[in-house]
Amino acid sequence: MKLFFSGHNDKYAVEQTMLILFPQERPEYSLEAPGGDNELELHLHTGVSFLTASAVLRRNGRTFHRQCRVRRSPDGTDSVTEDRLRRRTLQRALYWAAVDCLGVEPPWGMLSGVRPVKLPVRAVQNGATFAQAEAEMRTVYRVTETRRSLAMDCAKASLKVKSSLLPNEISLYIGIPFCPTRCAYCSFVSAAGQTNRLIAPYLHVLHEEIATAGVAVKEQGLLIRSVYIGGGTPTTLSARDLFDLLQAIRVAFPLKPNLEFTVEAGRPDTITREKLQAIKSGGGNRISVNPQSMSDHVLCAMGRAHSVKQILTAWELVQAEGFTAVNMDLIAGLPQDSVSGFETSLDQVLSLSPENITVHTLALKRGSRLREEGTRLPGGEEVSQMLDYAWNRLRQEGFSPYYLYRQKFMSGGFENVGWCKLGFESDYNICMMEELHTVLSLGAGGVTKQVRYHEGTIRRFSNPKYPQEYIRDRERILEEKRCFTP
Ligand code: SF4
Repeated sequence: MKLFFSGHNDKYAVEQTMLILFPQERPEYSLEAPGGDNELELHLHTGVSFLTASAVLRRNGRTFHRQCRVRRSPDGTDSVTEDRLRRRTLQRALYWAAVDCLGVEPPWGMLSGVRPVKLPVRAVQNGATFAQAEAEMRTVYRVTETRRSLAMDCAKASLKVKSSLLPNEISLYIGIPFCPTRCAYCSFVSAAGQTNRLIAPYLHVLHEEIATAGVAVKEQGLLIRSVYIGGGTPTTLSARDLFDLLQAIRVAFPLKPNLEFTVEAGRPDTITREKLQAIKSGGGNRISVNPQSMSDHVLCAMGRAHSVKQILTAWELVQAEGFTAVNMDLIAGLPQDSVSGFETSLDQVLSLSPENITVHTLALKRGSRLREEGTRLPGGEEVSQMLDYAWNRLRQEGFSPYYLYRQKFMSGGFENVGWCKLGFESDYNICMMEELHTVLSLGAGGVTKQVRYHEGTIRRFSNPKYPQEYIRDRERILEEKRCFTP
């Protein structure tokens, strides 16, 4: 779509809103005069007292014109507030014109960020009631009823955890960037063929990083509130390596008594009794088994080298070890899946009765095979039906949503939602997703987030994404961990 601006140059804000409304369109900034089809003109007039944004959208031979006018702050507002007001005014004019054109509103209305729950959380912390926070989502951001309900439940879970955090607590993430094969929707980098060769040198550096970070954490009197080992697929490691890793964590870090300790056992074909026992005896008490679908043909289409039967076998092994909580992931919108197929997958997962079920919406990541091959996928309406079914069935079965996030390029502009039975909210997921406190991240792909919640600042420190670079950059990584502060 060709874009023409006057009175402003807010490309980023406009493109974010475009992405919600016209995800297939790429913005083009043209020097020609406007007047053709598939064009957007966005004008801003900055008056003494008012900002007026006008959107003119020409599409499929029709023209949609909307205006948004807001009062400027009378007291010579600071530039940050003025910038925010200008962007929001432009986005609203564009949003209204686009909704007139499309005839439907996106599920999350005008909200474009990945963490929509922050909005009601912030409102409540600033003194609003939950009803007022929800009303703001409805009237200002035009969030639909189902999404508001998800966001409000997650906001309550977030505020509950926030009120229980101690100032010296942080969370710990460890990344294991290996998988047996690459799923079709994933842009994950570690090729299966490299795994065996890289695991030993990778673990060597990781153990050094754990020991180094542990010293810094102890010196500063910090306490680890929750641990999450993710990836990749941590259960790609042998039972011995898993046990040694968990043991190293326990030795290096001061851990809160009875802390939540999650290990992702993502791919069922990597799960064995020995590995589960190693996790259990190493202190892991929460595990995630991620079938994504319970249809063999869908598993095959997404590049998984395992069957539904293997998922059920893995489930039995997990049950036999008696973990405190088990999570299972499903994805709505996978290739070759249908609404009825997704419903059957969810029903089957529910019949296993895990404590947590995370329902993802397929996101077409850059570099994924699905995106490169342009595979046909269930459309937004089908994905919507899948998620509606999940929303109703999970609530019927006593599950509540407790954290959610959105990603770019998600089918239909929906979200990923963590659901749980009462009392089984994952502390780590809430703290990490809502950025409630500092998360120290070790290993390849680890992004340490230094959260100063009351100052409203977050700083990110990234380890290299690729295992080879992680091994190569050992010195720098260890030095950064020596200097770690929460
Ligand atoms: S298991 Fe997860 S990390 Fe590994 S390839 Fe599949 S989606 Fe990517």
